[in-house]
Formats: sequence, C-alpha cells, structure tokens
Amino acid sequence: MLNTKMEAALNDQIAAEFSAAYVYLAMSAYCESKGFPGTAHWLKKQSSEELEHAMKIYEHLHDRGGKVSLQAIPQPAVEYGTMAEVFEHVLKHEQKVTRLIHNLYDLAVAEKDHAAIPMLQWFIEEQIEEEKSATDVLTMVQMAGTSNNTMIYIDHKLAKR
Ligand code: MG
Repeated sequence: MLNTKMEAALNDQIAAEFSAAYVYLAMSAYCESKGFPGTAHWLKKQSSEELEHAMKIYEHLHDRGGKVSLQAIPQPAVEYGTMAEVFEHVLKHEQKVTRLIHNLYDLAVAEKDHAAIPMLQWFIEEQIEEEKSATDVLTMVQMAGTSNNTMIYIDHKLAKR
C-alpha cells in the first residue's frame, strides 16, 4: 500500500520531470533560433525522455492505487547564452534531478516502500547515463570554444541522436 508521504513525494517527482522536459524544450527552441538545429534536435529528444520519466512515475502511482495530482510547471528561461552555457545548465539540471531521486530513494527506504525501490533504482541508473551524456556534450562544446566551424561540426554530430 502506498502511503501519503510517498504519494506526495512521487507527485513532486512527476512535476520535476515535466519541469525538466519543459526546460529542455525551451533550450531546444533557443538553439534552433541560434542556428544549431542538431543541438536543438538533441535537446528535443532529451525533453521527450523526461516526459517518459514523468509517465513512468505516473503509471507507478496508478498501478498502486495512488492518486496523481499534477502540479504547476515553472516557466523556463528564454535565453541560455553560449552553447557551453546551455550544456552547463543541462548538467546542473541533471545533477539536481539526481539529488531529488536519491532523496526519494532514501524516503522509500525509510517508509519501507519496497514496491517503489526497484523503480527508483531504475531512475538511479538512468541518472548516471543522463549526467554522463550531458558531461560528454559539455566537454565537446567547451573544446569548440569560440570556433564556429567546430560548433557546426558538433551540431551535425548531435543531429544523429
Ligand atoms: Mg528525468
């Protein structure tokens, strides 16, 4: 049985995942406007992944007879600076999500919510991937520095995601 503390925390995490999706979509729109369609594509894919994360928790709540209550999503920024700044922001955001997932896992353990633990373990693993891919792109973009040619090359690479 799902307790009310876990139910509330899982609803908060649904909101955090939707919020991440919204931020990445805003970043995608920004990169599109800056003439980097490949980077925009990468971020749009990232945004859809966050929607899948939100829905995974949404289904988990329903499967266990919990109540889903959707929350307001904060308005994302419009401008994100240089491409390096975009991906610094992505990495920071993923690190924040990782902390939220770890807190949720700690809560599940404290509340003895054995059913939530395997799902949260999946998210813990997923966050390793999320932070790694954000770091990989950030490193590439930082290496490009102010070279437009290199950034165009990276943009083509990101289009293949
Ligand atoms: Mg996520």
